[in-house]
Amino acid sequence: MSTSHRAYRQILRRTSRQIRVGNVLVGGDAPISVQTMTNTLTADAKATIEQVLRAEEAGADMVRVSCPDEESTAALKEIVKAVHVPIVADIHFHYKRAIEAAEAGAACLRINPGNIGSADRVREVVQAAKDHGCAMRIGVNAGSLERELLERYGEPCPEALVESALTHAKILEDHDFREFKISVKASDVFLAVAAYQGLAEACDYPLHIGITEAGGLRAGTVKSSIGLGMLLWSGIGDTIRVSLSAPPEEEVKVGFEMLKSLGLRRRGVTVISCPSCARQQFDVIKTVEVLEERLAHITTPMTVSVIGCVVNGPGEATMTDIGFTGGGKGVHQVFLAGQPAHRLKDESIVDHLVSLVEKKAEEIKAAQAAEEAAAAAE
Ligand code: SF4
Repeated sequence: MSTSHRAYRQILRRTSRQIRVGNVLVGGDAPISVQTMTNTLTADAKATIEQVLRAEEAGADMVRVSCPDEESTAALKEIVKAVHVPIVADIHFHYKRAIEAAEAGAACLRINPGNIGSADRVREVVQAAKDHGCAMRIGVNAGSLERELLERYGEPCPEALVESALTHAKILEDHDFREFKISVKASDVFLAVAAYQGLAEACDYPLHIGITEAGGLRAGTVKSSIGLGMLLWSGIGDTIRVSLSAPPEEEVKVGFEMLKSLGLRRRGVTVISCPSCARQQFDVIKTVEVLEERLAHITTPMTVSVIGCVVNGPGEATMTDIGFTGGGKGVHQVFLAGQPAHRLKDESIVDHLVSLVEKKAEEIKAAQAAEEAAAAAE
């Protein structure tokens, strides 16, 4: 469905400078990337690689791993080689870990230059990043603000987070390094949003947005959607991480759903389904639950409506690629490209929809390949 003529749907993204994290562009007109973080021991390369691959399958554009010790940065080399997405190495204070991570092939270092000590150390880390084509992320967090700022501002507040971020940024700028993005996270939605709004005004660096320590899958998803939704809707944010006490791949799925809801990214099947009620002509909830699972492997963007009865079914079907509406006596209606196509009996609903989606995905891919071939031939 074209959105270009619907002004109420348009999000004007803040103009940010563009950086490169491995093969992923962040900022400018690059798609908003989705990232997550592993929770395995990084030194356990096998477990970490498996987790990164699961996150990749869910759609992660990049993945962060903690590097608290030398064993971790040693494992990083193997991890980077075995996965397909850029790896961000999370460093806190040890400048040596940062240098090792850059040497091991990390595409980005999450490090706050003001926390790693002397100017010489900062210079060494920046040099390592430059030598190895590594970007950086300055990650300010309300829970670990500098003491001096806390004393001056009295408590973590948006201004303190922004000042901390800009102070770290200045250190990198003084070393002629601008390949970085910034985050100013807080677990409080109001604080995080206000801090990002302030930072968005104060600089043009790409912003990594997130609500930190948001909670478990359900509460954290709601909280993150409110905070990140508010920012994304106003055009702020170049890369996102949803922080959940849940497996990394769940964070990625939630991140993508957020971007899909706002029309900022398209990936996989978007199922539009009704909540169901006494009028439903088949078990909508069970069908959607199984269907979403069976369609998780589809990456081609498309919409599918699964609606319990004719009250809303035909209307939703006109706006989706594949539509399914419950009908009386167990005879349901299938729509293709908004038009009634054929009828279907109860028992095979999920299998039938899965095969229609897979066929449609193949068609879309073939059309894209033909378009690309035609463009290449010109
Ligand atoms: S579309 Fe039909 S089944 Fe679904 S909630 Fe509405 S009235 Fe109920």
